[in-house]
Amino acid sequence: MKRKEILNRWDIKKSEELYGVNNWGRDYFTISETGELIINPFTEEKGGVSLIDIIQGVEDRGFDMPVLLRFENILDEQISYLNNAFNNAIESLEYKGSYRGVYPIKVNQQQQVVHEIAKFGQRYHHGFEVGSKAELIAVMTEMKDKEANIICNGYKDSEFIDLGLYAIKMGYNLFFVIEMPGEVELILDRGKLLGVQPNIGVRIKLSTKAGGHWTESGGDRSIFGLNMSQVIEILDYLKEKGMLSCLKLMHYHLGSQIPNIRDIRVAVLEAARVYAELVKEGAPMGYLDLGGGLAVDYDGSNTNFTSSRNYNVDEYCIDVIEAVMSVMDNDDIDHPIIITESGRAIVAYYSVLVFNVLDVTKFEQYDIPEELPEETPENIKNLFEVYKNVSVKNLQESYNDALYYRDLIKDMFNHSNISLRERALSEKIYWDLIYRVSGELHKLKFIPPELIDLDDALADIYYCNFSLFQSIPDSWAIDQLFPIVPIHRLNEEPTRNAVIADITCDCDGEINKFIDLHDVKKTLPLHELRTSEDYYIGTFLVGAYQETLGDLHNLFGDTNVVSIRLDGKGSYEFINEIQGDTVEDVLSYVEYNTKDLRASFRENAETAVKAGLITAKERKSIMESFEAGLRGYTYYER
Ligand SMILES: *Cc1c(COP(=O)(O)O)cnc(C)c1O
Repeated sequence: MKRKEILNRWDIKKSEELYGVNNWGRDYFTISETGELIINPFTEEKGGVSLIDIIQGVEDRGFDMPVLLRFENILDEQISYLNNAFNNAIESLEYKGSYRGVYPIKVNQQQQVVHEIAKFGQRYHHGFEVGSKAELIAVMTEMKDKEANIICNGYKDSEFIDLGLYAIKMGYNLFFVIEMPGEVELILDRGKLLGVQPNIGVRIKLSTKAGGHWTESGGDRSIFGLNMSQVIEILDYLKEKGMLSCLKLMHYHLGSQIPNIRDIRVAVLEAARVYAELVKEGAPMGYLDLGGGLAVDYDGSNTNFTSSRNYNVDEYCIDVIEAVMSVMDNDDIDHPIIITESGRAIVAYYSVLVFNVLDVTKFEQYDIPEELPEETPENIKNLFEVYKNVSVKNLQESYNDALYYRDLIKDMFNHSNISLRERALSEKIYWDLIYRVSGELHKLKFIPPELIDLDDALADIYYCNFSLFQSIPDSWAIDQLFPIVPIHRLNEEPTRNAVIADITCDCDGEINKFIDLHDVKKTLPLHELRTSEDYYIGTFLVGAYQETLGDLHNLFGDTNVVSIRLDGKGSYEFINEIQGDTVEDVLSYVEYNTKDLRASFRENAETAVKAGLITAKERKSIMESFEAGLRGYTYYER
């Protein structure tokens, strides 16, 4: 092998860099020498397991792609990480209060998630935040720890309030957070009736507004929370009723995924001041709840870009504790117990969506004839001339001319002046020309702005077996970026640039924005498909918000889900398997009665028998296919 070839040889380090695995993966993901993506939540190398191995195991057990893999170890690890980071900050800054995290269950309400957090979180007294009766019921059935907190946000009717009061009676540390002034009276009334003293918190509206996608909850115009005069009203009302002893907590929520630590700090300082004033007013207080917002570095850039954050968890904890402490010490107030409602940061890493590639469309070079026939229309001949003369000296000019002639040719076609065959020829020439121009671009010192994205226009389309709307809705709804990486062949150079299309027939079902350290990439480097081998791609950090936001676009339903626990010795166990929706399931979600469906399908088949279109035997086979279809997975099955 020549020296230069050896230098240029692809290796796993290059893949690690290309896909940013070490930047966004929080050390949970690495690449093996054989080019497989490894998941390893342990510090020792031998604990790792290859994702493609797991996928093999999933398929051997009869589950088709796409599949959502959930790694329980990662969930545990993230809970520990956050709690340890707060405890370390508390210790090093000599903060006198403690930290009690709560998990906001709306971020991922799946029973397994809530169950695992309730079980593992017990060692840190990690509790829950709920926003509805349904969520409170889910938590009251899963949570055993009486030292952990339950924070009730959202609008509360008397049924909700009664449930909460009974929880307090049963020994839970439950707080009703007041979002609307009118709620206090009902809570006090129900409490009196049931003989329970409620714990009350107030949700305040800060004037601080953070940047980012999801931060509409903050700021003066926020639809949630109380303004300062409403807080005073409630305070006076509680005093008047002799119930000020109920007021123990203050809460705010700035919004999710706050990329800039400065916004977080400013908000904590403002909130801490309000808290201090409530204490001065005579409320017992004791709990300061800072809401969610702790961001995940989806693109690994460590910046204040919306899909990233310019701080890490340790820095977040230090800043929070420091800010609270500075205000309390200045106002001579006891250090409160600090609550945060981090959801995204706890669960995002936990799930990985894996799908296979079904097909590829390439913009390849066509065979263009040496000469065009004499009778070819003039404008096509002109385009052909431009095509033949492309050189590094005239790239911009050739590109402009190509656009010009392409438009003329299209017009001629619309006016019946050229045939479909001629138009097809012109398109071949056009795309080959673009291909040539793009191939020469790297030779230029300065690439004209118009031509910078030309490569992207030539990207392959990889058709993949999943629904964007069902499995990563935020990618569609708010252009959120997720790391997307092939889970094998990473010791080979990915030679294709591609965008990803999902299996729905919606033109929005496309991913054409990918993570990058400095920018947003429009294409993703992928490997050439092999004829006899499946190609598997993972979408990472999809544990937060995606599952319950997903919808039934084109009636693609829930994917298969497999929960996995690694044993730390390089092996793993399938803890739980949930079969995804069948066709029958999704039809019933949109109110098809499957009994009627069968009957009327049978009727149609019988009519065809009577009309002599099919035989009675054929009717049997048709009914069998129909049954198989109803029972099948909604995605592409092999
Ligand atoms: C959604 C929500 C959260 C979760 O925020 P993350 O940024 O995901 O941690 C916390 N608290 C409240 C009140 C919320 O509505």
